[in-house]
Amino acid sequence: MDAPTRHFIHKIIESDLAAGRNDGKVVMRFPPEPNGYLHIGHAKAICLNFGLAREFGGVCNLRLDDTNPDKESEHYAEAIQEDVRWLGFEWDALCHTSDYFEPLYEYALRLIDLGQAYVCELSAEEINKTRGTLTEPGTDSPFRARPKEESRDLFERMRAGEFADGSRTLRAKIDMRSPNMNMRDPVLYRIRFTRHQRQGDAWCIYPTYDYSHSLSDSIEGVTHSLCTLEFEDHRPLYDWFLEKLDVHRSRQYEFARLILKHTLTSKRKLNQLIEEGMVGGWNDPRMPTLSGLRRRGFPPEAIRDFCDLIGLTKNDSVIELDQLESCTRDYLNDKAPRAFAVLDPIKVVIENYPEDKTETLRAPLHPKRPELGDREMPFSREVCIERDDFMEDPPRKYFRLSPGGEVRLKYAYIIRCESVIKDDAGRITELRCSYDPDTASGQSPDGRKVKGT
Ligand code: ATP
Ligand code: MG
Repeated sequence: MDAPTRHFIHKIIESDLAAGRNDGKVVMRFPPEPNGYLHIGHAKAICLNFGLAREFGGVCNLRLDDTNPDKESEHYAEAIQEDVRWLGFEWDALCHTSDYFEPLYEYALRLIDLGQAYVCELSAEEINKTRGTLTEPGTDSPFRARPKEESRDLFERMRAGEFADGSRTLRAKIDMRSPNMNMRDPVLYRIRFTRHQRQGDAWCIYPTYDYSHSLSDSIEGVTHSLCTLEFEDHRPLYDWFLEKLDVHRSRQYEFARLILKHTLTSKRKLNQLIEEGMVGGWNDPRMPTLSGLRRRGFPPEAIRDFCDLIGLTKNDSVIELDQLESCTRDYLNDKAPRAFAVLDPIKVVIENYPEDKTETLRAPLHPKRPELGDREMPFSREVCIERDDFMEDPPRKYFRLSPGGEVRLKYAYIIRCESVIKDDAGRITELRCSYDPDTASGQSPDGRKVKGT
């Protein structure tokens, strides 16, 4: 592989290191939600995060972002680990956002005590209605001004399970008139009486993505938190939590997600294909999941090369599937041991070859890499050639086999076509040939040249 590409995040990390920021540390994470299998889009994020950590001698955690027990499972969590390893990366720590439920709860209490969060009794629908639009400001919740002692008490009782599903939320007190909709008193916690795959029934309140993501990064000491462009507008909120709580400041950087032509890269949509019975499962070879690509025979090295090749930008662009295939061909061309197959055969009978003889010729496993060694190639009186490689009435400059013509059988002898045998319908069933025993494996004692091999 070529030297790693210098993209804008690469430069940011280099300059942070040069300036001695973050005590010279590079801490990354890859944070998938265990609600499906990883797909080719995730490969870009994996190569990026793990690759940068590896290059700068840093750390990269695999964090399972498991805050929506309705949609998640341990099965998905295991499949994700298997796929990351298959792609060729190993995490420093395996983390779960749910491991931080207790500290996240403590942070929420602190925000309440700081007067920066309040318990709201509007329904999800009412919250939506009062959020305003891109052109109109939102309106304050009637619960916004409630004393912080009251919010603390209510939030503790939310955790204790005293209130019904969806009846209350904890919201940040920011600005209902902010031009950035994400800053209009976003919800931090909701009540969900759902059993968690790892925490069991310990919790009936669950943190939202923005809240838990920012603080999980901080808890892990993440220095560079990379995510896709849709989260650019969430960055002020990401920073807001860290600033108000005065904790380790992770920094978020956004990059353009991988969009592959004719390819779905959304777990939700891929799941729909499965639910509707269009495919056999997450690892169906037609799926753009890593496990589907694996079953189809894509080598992980080719996927890594592809992620390297497409680079990293801040502009969305559509990548052609050809590029993945081309990386795969390049990789296989260099690495794959060769073998022969005839798809549409014509039988060739070599009349002057002894009937009871089979000899073992040798063929290189790779035409350009002798160090890979060779393989045995049995040769006898009857062989097959591809139907396309013979023409009874050839045009000029046809270098394959034709009546009276000579070709070399690759890594074997020069043969000459003596006669053609057909069935009643006129279809060729057999070629009668002769061979020259002095021409084995590329030898040509009389300097004879044949044009076709
Ligand atoms: P999906 O819509 O498939 O669920 P997601 O972004 O919600 O995708 P997560 O499991 O939450 O999936 O994502 C884990 C990480 O992978 C995130 O940091 C996300 O930015 C990254 N990621 C997901 N899809 C892509 C993509 N197409 N290109 C690059 N990175 C991606
Ligand atoms: Mg998601």
